[in-house]
Amino acid sequence: MANLKQGEFVGSLDCGTTSVRFIVFDKYANIIAQHQAEFPQYYPEPGWHEHDADEIQQVSDLCIAEASRKLEKAGWGKESIKIIGITNQRETAVAWSRKTGKPLCRAIVWTDSRTKNHVAFFEKKLREVGLNGKKGEAGVNELRELTGIQLSTYFSGIKLKWMIDHDPVVREAHEADDLLFGTVESWVIYNLVGGVKTGLHISEVTNASRTLLLNLHTLNWEPSLLEFFDLRKSILPKLVSSSEVYGKISSGPLQGVKIGGLIGDQQGALVGNKCLRQGEAKCTYGTGAFLLFCTGADIVKSAHGLLGTVAYQPGPGTKPVYALEGSIAVAGSAIKWLRDSMMMISTAEDVNTLAKQVPTTGGVYFVTAFSGLLAPYWDPGAAGLLIGLSSYTNPCHIARATLEANAFQTRAIVESMKLDSKVDLKHLKVDGGMTNGDMAMEVLADIGGFSVIRPEMRESTALGSALLAGSAIGLFGWDITKPETMVEVNTKGSTEFNPSLAEAAREKKWQGWQRAVERAKKWEE
Ligand code: ADP
Repeated sequence: MANLKQGEFVGSLDCGTTSVRFIVFDKYANIIAQHQAEFPQYYPEPGWHEHDADEIQQVSDLCIAEASRKLEKAGWGKESIKIIGITNQRETAVAWSRKTGKPLCRAIVWTDSRTKNHVAFFEKKLREVGLNGKKGEAGVNELRELTGIQLSTYFSGIKLKWMIDHDPVVREAHEADDLLFGTVESWVIYNLVGGVKTGLHISEVTNASRTLLLNLHTLNWEPSLLEFFDLRKSILPKLVSSSEVYGKISSGPLQGVKIGGLIGDQQGALVGNKCLRQGEAKCTYGTGAFLLFCTGADIVKSAHGLLGTVAYQPGPGTKPVYALEGSIAVAGSAIKWLRDSMMMISTAEDVNTLAKQVPTTGGVYFVTAFSGLLAPYWDPGAAGLLIGLSSYTNPCHIARATLEANAFQTRAIVESMKLDSKVDLKHLKVDGGMTNGDMAMEVLADIGGFSVIRPEMRESTALGSALLAGSAIGLFGWDITKPETMVEVNTKGSTEFNPSLAEAAREKKWQGWQRAVERAKKWEE
């Protein structure tokens, strides 16, 4: 196209749980062009949640093409995009064939809890057979010590194991050494750089730190865990850092553009919020909610149900930065459930309008344990529970209780972080789709008892991978190891929500929530 301006931009492909977006940023994190598209969700059985990996790829390609078209429409040449990053839903397991490059089965999504029995089996094995010669509680601690995480349906390695054990196609591929395993960043970059022709099979360390197979200290696949889960090493991707040039896009409108940043979405949001130093925290409220607290060079071992994880690794062979994490499985998805399954609202925003109409929930608590409870409760058998219903209850109360559920679960994580780090949280930086609702944020401040800071530009997940990609080639002088090189990024205004509820009322509600959670726990064997 003639007369197109040439600029310097960085792109980010954000492969979320329900949608993919491609965003083009300038040096200040202004959004120059973007495109977002949803992709199908499959729920074949209660507790199961699947994606078609091909559909994720098609939607990714579409978003790149459409955003590139919009960039040109805005008067900029596509060559202005100097490099792109990729950020992704993290613990979703993808299995594909080395020979054909095609998925061998549907991807098992991070929210999926079908692996409950596998978790129970390996828990028993950990205690009875042991790991590295340690049995019982010492075996459980050894796994925790090595990986920072614990046996749970949440993590991708256990989902991979389930695929091998239950899907004959995957099992045969494993036996024939035709199986390639990866999380979503692995799959998407494999395809973007040329698929089976190039055969680039890599995984980035923040994603790998959610598999149950990575040694958090050495950042290598842990041989004792491969043995424990009986997995071949050749199915695992080569490990790479969060910021380096991995390859180039092989086709489409951005053919030839480098890919230079890979990071799991929650860690991406931590970086995008520039929480790069010890003591800085953010919480992202999308499908689920994820609170990450940067612990710097230290791996902090939580005694209160939180996880140790890699926050980012600034380059190949460099020392990583770590984080403590608390994850909530159901946040925005409870609102989606009110909309799509209960038909109580017609848009997600309506939950705020309904909740605003009542000053309290009228005694209703909603434990949104649709697939068990994650941090800090870790109960795969917990069931969703609405309690405190009466003839007085109406949809406004349920809407408010849904927003409160999110706030209570955040508070539970913050309480654990306080105990682990001995630091009181004064503010929480937030982002994600759910933070669009002012009422949701007011409820969070009230229940949490801390101020909630919402930036104006809330695409921090995408921004995080853009910063890492830019940093890989020194674009705009960015250097991820030197936060001061990015001071100009995303300095636009933010909104602060402060608690207005009296302390006694907050405490009473908190007690009520804890009683409700106790009733929801261990419902399913
Ligand atoms: P993900 O990246 O996990 O796909 P997003 O960050 O796009 O998620 O957030 C989507 C979620 O945010 C949906 O589950 C939706 O219910 C919720 N959401 C969107 N807008 C609002 C709003 N105005 N108020 C409350 N929740 C909202």
